[in-house]
Amino acid sequence: MHVIIIGAGVIGISSAWYLRAAGCRVTVIDSHPEVAMETSFANAGQLSAGYAAPWAAPGVPLKAARWLLQEHGPLRIRPDGSRFQLAWLARLTANCTEEAYLRNRRALLPLAEYSLAELEALQQQTGIAYEGRRLGTLQVFRKPRQLDAAERDARLLGELGIAHHLVDAGNIATIEPALARARVPLLGALHLPGDGTGDCRLFTQRLAALAVQQGITLRLATTLTGIHEQSSHIEGVQLDTHERLDCDALVMAAGCASRPLLQSLGFDLPVYPVKGYSLTMPLRDTVAVPRSTVMDETYKIALTRLDTRLRVGGMAEVAGWDRQLDSQRLATLHKVVDELFPDAAERGQASAWTGLRPMTPNGVPLIGPTQLDGLWLNTGHGTLGWTLACGSGKLLADLLSGKPPALSAAPYRL
Ligand SMILES: Cc1cc2nc3c(=O)[nH]c(=O)nc-3n(C[C@H](O)[C@H](O)[C@H](O)COP(=O)(O)OP(=O)(O)OC[C@H]3O[C@@H](n4cnc5c(N)ncnc54)[C@H](O)[C@@H]3O)c2cc1C
Repeated sequence: MHVIIIGAGVIGISSAWYLRAAGCRVTVIDSHPEVAMETSFANAGQLSAGYAAPWAAPGVPLKAARWLLQEHGPLRIRPDGSRFQLAWLARLTANCTEEAYLRNRRALLPLAEYSLAELEALQQQTGIAYEGRRLGTLQVFRKPRQLDAAERDARLLGELGIAHHLVDAGNIATIEPALARARVPLLGALHLPGDGTGDCRLFTQRLAALAVQQGITLRLATTLTGIHEQSSHIEGVQLDTHERLDCDALVMAAGCASRPLLQSLGFDLPVYPVKGYSLTMPLRDTVAVPRSTVMDETYKIALTRLDTRLRVGGMAEVAGWDRQLDSQRLATLHKVVDELFPDAAERGQASAWTGLRPMTPNGVPLIGPTQLDGLWLNTGHGTLGWTLACGSGKLLADLLSGKPPALSAAPYRL
């Protein structure tokens, strides 16, 4: 069976790896001359089952109203002139009920846990190195009301069976010693010891190289321009090189572009580009840096230790396809580094990046077949694509090759 995958981000390449392992002939197509050049390029590096939660949560509409008024708030919304943006925001708001939140979180959690287990198996099988660590996430709180919310969160984590513990202010530095130098008072923290970290781009590059050795075809600097369909069945794709490639199945893993690419076939995927930012900077003093990921709850910013670099990422802008680097947002990232890890990194050498998260309103990705024969989806991973990549790739490959999947695919169907 010949499968064409559109997109060589972390989701497309993971899909390619598992489809090849399932015995398929696989061709991956991407517009960029290298893999992982879009959203998988410089994300915050968290591999987190504990944080595998939708953004749409009870209380978020009220918090959002507050954030929109703050200079360093984590959220911005700018009308992009489309009805889709309004409809998407309305659907996100509708998912902020207790019931919807629990349903969506219960859909994300097993996929995240499965994904981290598959990543570990892949690492053992191939020895793939991606500056990975398994030292947990520490979410730190600066405000008393965040501590109350953390207690509620901890109860839910307990119900969901996720390892965690609340940490009082005096013990924060036993988990992240460099936080002893923080310039702002921290009132407490929530530790998720099972979480991991790593460089998503490096992983994608190395997995792509391994997949090519296993026989997949990687067509870079090549853009999908059309999809051939006959009698409700996918026949192949049209490329900007004027070639037509035939296939038995087409997997759409094009991140934010998945929606516009499928509109001509009558699909309206609920995937919106939600912009985020990151800074990557060389370490200055290795005892002054986090050991793993520290999540600053006040600004919703994650600071992750890679081997010789610090990656700081976060923010959400619902503002269409705008990819400009806003200096105010970068100033917020710098401020958080300066307050929490003042001596950690060479901030003057920071490289800034912005990426568009392919987000569904309920935070749950779309994985599996569509009503059009031969058209499959692996997209909409939003804030969690790195965490969910291996599980999503394996799940898709099992479904497509007719093997019984290890977890129910029902929550991820379009
Ligand atoms: C600031 C930020 C921080 C984040 N932090 C984390 C984190 O800590 N942990 C986590 O799990 N996730 C995180 N994420 C989310 C994660 O990065 C994404 O979910 C993930 O990268 C999405 O991968 P993808 O393969 O679906 O999309 P992409 O990486 O965008 O890949 C899609 C590919 O499709 C290609 N494409 C599009 N159109 C065409 C076409 N017509 N023809 C050919 N190719 C095409 C593009 O060139 C692109 O390479 C973060 C995201 C951001 C923005």
